[in-house]
Amino acid sequence: MTKAMMDDPRRIREENPFESMMERFDRAAQLLNLNPDLYAVMRVPSREIKVYVPVRMDSGRIEVFEGFRVQHNFARGPAKGGIRYAPDVHIDEVRALAAWMTWKCAVVNVPFGGGKGGVICDPMQMSIGELERLTRRYAAELIDFIGPERDVPAPDMNTNEQTMAWIMDTFSMHARHTVTAVVTGKPVELGGSRGRREATGRGLLFVINEAIKRFKLSPPNTRVVVQGSGNVGGIGARLLHEAGYKVVAISDIFGGIYNPDGIDIPAALAHLQQTRSLQEFPNVEHVSNSELLELECDVLAPCATENQIRSENAGRIKCRILAEGANGPTTANADKILHNNGVFVIPDILANAGGVTVSYFEWVQDRMGYFWKEEVVNERLSDVMVASFNDVVKYAENHNVDTRTAAYMLAIDRVAYDTRMRGIYA
Ligand code: NAD
Repeated sequence: MTKAMMDDPRRIREENPFESMMERFDRAAQLLNLNPDLYAVMRVPSREIKVYVPVRMDSGRIEVFEGFRVQHNFARGPAKGGIRYAPDVHIDEVRALAAWMTWKCAVVNVPFGGGKGGVICDPMQMSIGELERLTRRYAAELIDFIGPERDVPAPDMNTNEQTMAWIMDTFSMHARHTVTAVVTGKPVELGGSRGRREATGRGLLFVINEAIKRFKLSPPNTRVVVQGSGNVGGIGARLLHEAGYKVVAISDIFGGIYNPDGIDIPAALAHLQQTRSLQEFPNVEHVSNSELLELECDVLAPCATENQIRSENAGRIKCRILAEGANGPTTANADKILHNNGVFVIPDILANAGGVTVSYFEWVQDRMGYFWKEEVVNERLSDVMVASFNDVVKYAENHNVDTRTAAYMLAIDRVAYDTRMRGIYA
């Protein structure tokens, strides 16, 4: 892409995740004929917290990092959502991700609102000690705003089980007793849930299983292309492979590997783990991440990052089913093109909701102090994902809208109902 294309204001606008989210929210709200008072309340976040986090670096000097926590909506329960560490964290992105969490929790009908956090930092350049001090002080700054009944963070980009354990410990030190349910995505030994690590990929598998039935496909004759090979893409591809699907392409940040006869996914993931890249994997063709999206396939699962399918490349997407493992992989402008080309979309707020569903199970288990077997977790996850898929598809058919609009309408309708029943304290 040329510099002029990168700097084009239309492109910048199309790729602003908050604008994409709002465009879909507005369309769904309009179709629902949402009451103007509810619209006014629901279109904005409930609370945005900005913190400046001093951290003593290994050099002995203090560095101050900027962090956010956006609590988008509490109508259905405590806010819920991840915390990401990255140099390009932006409040607009955090706002969009927090709102997506509200709609996602409502689509799968778990009793949470939406939240998201972020700290502007470069975790690759920080030591473990610096990351621990950053995490603890960020958690301490948020202490009055988070908690099992208020807001329950989880891992996101560049945060993990260890980060959650530090937050849980910091919160517990201030509370003077152990509070496991303040975060999810913890190590299983510290109140985490069995099956949480695989939950997003497994949820993706469950909704793909439902979607292929609509096309009279079965796993062995379903060609799947997966972008990304991390928690969602890697685990999703492995589970699809185990279920008999033909995964023909998969990628990492450097590019993709392709074999129309199918890839040995466990071998590719082992290679990725050993060499930290898929690039030298044998007996495959090499494609770029953008070429990968345009491959001939039945299911395309973008599981890497935002804005991968845009107005400029949407017309060249050849899949029958788009299963959005990532958050916001498709821009609002691209939606119309995919719809006109008859692509069946399993929207992100449904397709990747397996993660938050098992986070909900983790929160429930922590509060009970009683932990379920992995089979129980997976069976309950299947129940939720299959029911939610059918809810969205039925809603789309009944209202004659595409599945993304249906998922937003269903979610907004549920949040609006609860807001109306509670009444607006104004
Ligand atoms: P991850 O860091 O484990 O993996 C990300 C993968 O994407 C890696 O393979 C990486 O190489 C690749 N990647 C990163 N940037 C890329 C780029 N610019 N182009 C191509 N590939 C790129 O992250 P994850 O947890 O798998 O999350 C992936 C997406 O799924 C994100 O959008 C995240 O918000 C969303 N998501 C994750 C979960 C979860 O439980 N992990 C739940 C819901 C949604």
